[in-house]
Amino acid sequence: MGNMRELLVGVDIGGTKTAVLLTTRDGQVLSETVVPTLSQSPEQVVYSVCHAVAIVLNGAGGTVSDVAAIGAGVPGLVERDAGIVRMAANLNLEHYPLGATLSAEFHTPVLIENDVRAATVGIYHHLNQTEPLRHLAYLSVGTGISAGMVLNGQLYRGTNGMAGEIGHVVVDPDGILCSCGQRGCLETIVAGPAIARHAANYFAQPVTASEVYEAAVRGSAAAAEIVRHVSTLLARTIQWLVMAYDVEKVVIGGGVANSGDAFLQPILSHFAHLRVHSPLTQMMLPDSKIMLLPAGFNAGTWGALHLARQATQLHV
Ligand SMILES: [Zn+2]
Repeated sequence: MGNMRELLVGVDIGGTKTAVLLTTRDGQVLSETVVPTLSQSPEQVVYSVCHAVAIVLNGAGGTVSDVAAIGAGVPGLVERDAGIVRMAANLNLEHYPLGATLSAEFHTPVLIENDVRAATVGIYHHLNQTEPLRHLAYLSVGTGISAGMVLNGQLYRGTNGMAGEIGHVVVDPDGILCSCGQRGCLETIVAGPAIARHAANYFAQPVTASEVYEAAVRGSAAAAEIVRHVSTLLARTIQWLVMAYDVEKVVIGGGVANSGDAFLQPILSHFAHLRVHSPLTQMMLPDSKIMLLPAGFNAGTWGALHLARQATQLHV
């Protein structure tokens, strides 16, 4: 490449796939890749990241010495400043110094963050390019449900880096046991596996959340009932976020949200009903405030890339 330390790397470490984006310092995309995440041990997770980074550097004709910094999103509880993954069940990581380990591998600053919080940063910068934005909430509905907030242009992390972990708000105290030890967390009702489990009561064969949404569109009364129940809870979740933080936009993404209009329309119609009699809802929850993650935009890797940029500034 000639120029030293001119490249930024954004890594999105998922439970099954690791995606990496390589750009110049000004954000020009040079190379991207996706590799399977090996997650039997911390060493395997690190290997997956190293493997993927080697591929993007190769693709751009660069070497490790060209990398200015790396940002990485991790699906779990992250102590950002210490660079420690306190717990990431899908990656078999517990109290693991991922930041320091990657930093030693690549001889470069590394900043790690929870994946949903990282994606929130990515979405914020993406939307802010076309429309100046100060406050944003991102709601991820996938195998779990979690949110991230950018307030006044900055990621809001809270005291423990847990700000936005609304999947563990109890909505049904008599509900099923959650991995967190409580009963009836939001996540046990509206996330992908919960929708599939609920559907198992109505359908002869196992169905996924996206199949439930498809069946509802095709006219299945049972699927429509499940979608109505889930959409009501998601609408309430969005309402909590909007009333707690008074954000300008709520963006929804994650595997379940990939069902697109079939996912979004029932939520919007819930608000349409509320607006009929509620001036407050008219003001706070217009349809224009709620949007799906733009198709084809990889929020996770772009967010990680912004973390990398932040890492260069921390270590200048
Ligand atoms: Zn829980």
